[in-house]
Amino acid sequence: MEQIRGNESRLRARLRELVEIESPSDDRAAVNRAADVVVNWVLELGGEVRRHPGGSYGDVVELRFGAASHHKPVLVLGHLDTVYSAGTLTTMPWREVEAEDGVRLQGPGVVDMKAGVVMALEAIAALQQLNALNRPVMVLLNPDEEVGSEVSRPHTERLARESDAVFVLEPAQGLAYKTARKGVGHFELTVSGVAAHAGVDFASGHSAVLEMARLVEQVSGWTDLSKGRTVNVGVIRGGTRSNVIAAECKAEVDVRVVTMEDAGVVEEMFRGLRTHDAACKLRVEGGINRPPMERSPGTVALFQKAQRLAAEIGLDLQEAATGGGSDGNFTAAIGVPTLDGMGAVGGGAHSPNEYVVAAHLVVRTALLAGMLQSGF
Ligand SMILES: [Zn+2]
Repeated sequence: MEQIRGNESRLRARLRELVEIESPSDDRAAVNRAADVVVNWVLELGGEVRRHPGGSYGDVVELRFGAASHHKPVLVLGHLDTVYSAGTLTTMPWREVEAEDGVRLQGPGVVDMKAGVVMALEAIAALQQLNALNRPVMVLLNPDEEVGSEVSRPHTERLARESDAVFVLEPAQGLAYKTARKGVGHFELTVSGVAAHAGVDFASGHSAVLEMARLVEQVSGWTDLSKGRTVNVGVIRGGTRSNVIAAECKAEVDVRVVTMEDAGVVEEMFRGLRTHDAACKLRVEGGINRPPMERSPGTVALFQKAQRLAAEIGLDLQEAATGGGSDGNFTAAIGVPTLDGMGAVGGGAHSPNEYVVAAHLVVRTALLAGMLQSGF
């Protein structure tokens, strides 16, 4: 803790530096500029760097610290991309403002999750200073988390399979670590009907809009809050003019589930969907693309260790579940104990008010450092 407190000004300066390099997921060069800066810090720490080209996205950055030992490594997961487009800094510059919870550090991506990335490197630096890095630590920084992690997912899963545990640097849930996340699905429904003049030839038309309305009602009914399952038709578009019976209608559906079993059930329900009007055709695409991070015994054990360490530094750490997905969903689904929400305390992620509460930075980094040490 003292080591980290001694480096707090560096931590905050680096956080500002990283926030001031905008890095929207869809801008490869920008994300790579952020990666370049982080890689320089890593080289100062003597870490090993491997950069895997991410195609149309920035590089997937794989970092390794600590000598090989009989302990398996732990994997720390972060991402360098943000949801903010280039130029956001002009309306959302770095700011340090007084609030009821103390100084808030504001800027695009500050809590989700540039603070987490900086915290991880400070945790490792402190352990190195104390000669206390007693097992290999791998850090994976992804360029595409905010757009579904398509490019980084194989790297995340490959490194997770080598690891004892996975720690995810996403923001805390309030003050809590996250031990469960819902699985996330995305489905697209396309209905093809039969177009006709709404006045002259009504009877020969089959409305794709009307059919979709029935389907929307049906799939929305699959929401079951007691199971934690939600089905949200968030986008619908169809038809061309009010006097034309609509030939086509599309809908986009977001699905959240708590268990793998329920993920299978919901996928079956979508596959089994049929039109009510036999003259209309239906195409169903998509599926569950982030499996749920279930609250497994391995994850509970990690959380209990975190809770003991937290108590030693005067912190009452709680656990929480969330409906949002992260890269932790992938590692938990392949059976590696995963603890999430280990990054900064703050709020307003993906909004103009995104902030980190500065007062928690040192203590959360100390807790992360404790978790990186072996001994469960
Ligand atoms: Zn994030």
